[in-house]
Amino acid sequence: MLNVRAALKNGIAQLREADVPSFTLAAELLLLHVLGRNRTWLYAHPEEIITDADAHRFFELVVRRAAGEPTQHLTGKQEFWGLEFEVTPDVLIPRPETEHLIEVALDRLALRELRAGRPQKSAGAGLQIADIGTGSGCIAIALAKELPAANFLATDLSPAALAVALRNAQRHAVADRIQFIECNLLAFPVGAQHAAPLLGTMPNSAPPVFHESPVRGHELRPFDLIASNPPYIGRREASSLPREVRDHEPASALFGGEEGYELYANLIAQSATHLKPGALLVLELGHNSLPAVQPLLDAANWTNVGVTNDLAGIPRVLAAERF
Ligand code: GLN
Repeated sequence: MLNVRAALKNGIAQLREADVPSFTLAAELLLLHVLGRNRTWLYAHPEEIITDADAHRFFELVVRRAAGEPTQHLTGKQEFWGLEFEVTPDVLIPRPETEHLIEVALDRLALRELRAGRPQKSAGAGLQIADIGTGSGCIAIALAKELPAANFLATDLSPAALAVALRNAQRHAVADRIQFIECNLLAFPVGAQHAAPLLGTMPNSAPPVFHESPVRGHELRPFDLIASNPPYIGRREASSLPREVRDHEPASALFGGEEGYELYANLIAQSATHLKPGALLVLELGHNSLPAVQPLLDAANWTNVGVTNDLAGIPRVLAAERF
């Protein structure tokens, strides 16, 4: 017979022994997951006896965590922007740094409204927003919750990731405003940004039909905001990554090339051809990407370039406005 306190103590000891980062938090999250409880409950009920079946499930997860599986793969979830996201080994686990990208995007949009003489806080009516390399969908979905009238297009190369992103969009009731498209960066079919949202359409099922509208000048550059957290780790850095990341997160979501920053050139060039005049590009950067990426924002196409540091002081978000 094991109570909550004893189970937790044992789990923490095993994870500490295995050098798991944040071992106490990891043990707590695994126990909460198994018991289907929240944190407050855990500390209010240290004497509660847990069933043998729950104890068994908990210690099984502790062993897997000790062997390197990320906590989020064992619980199937991660919080981002105050929302709970489903995560699987098919998607990058949303990171807190990426919340800076959401903040910068919202600040820049508010500034744009202010400059246009409109109320600063807007629901985003009429805005077309793209999230390139959407993974779990966290960027598009967080922005969709903040901008309840905006429309989105989210791309990813991985159909398995898109399936997770679609489920997350449904969970947060924004799937009717996000169109998910399997493609490389912004190489989506012409007219895709005007097609009906693919509500309920699983990537992998029948190919989506895009209803092409006659292309007019402004439709060639339809977006008000393009946001992306592209794969930006260098393959040459792979050996220095924590095993949780290197051995368990999708390589296609992590690595941008040998150096890491290789994808930004295409991403920026393609964005230039898809953003309206005065529209915004907001990119997450790797810890050493800035010197390679900032020069790609040539003065002929881009203005108001800004860099935002993360809490560790690393230049993390690059934002610019299209002429
Ligand atoms: N857009 C997703 C995120 O920010 C996935 C990014 C990626 O896979 N590189 O978490």
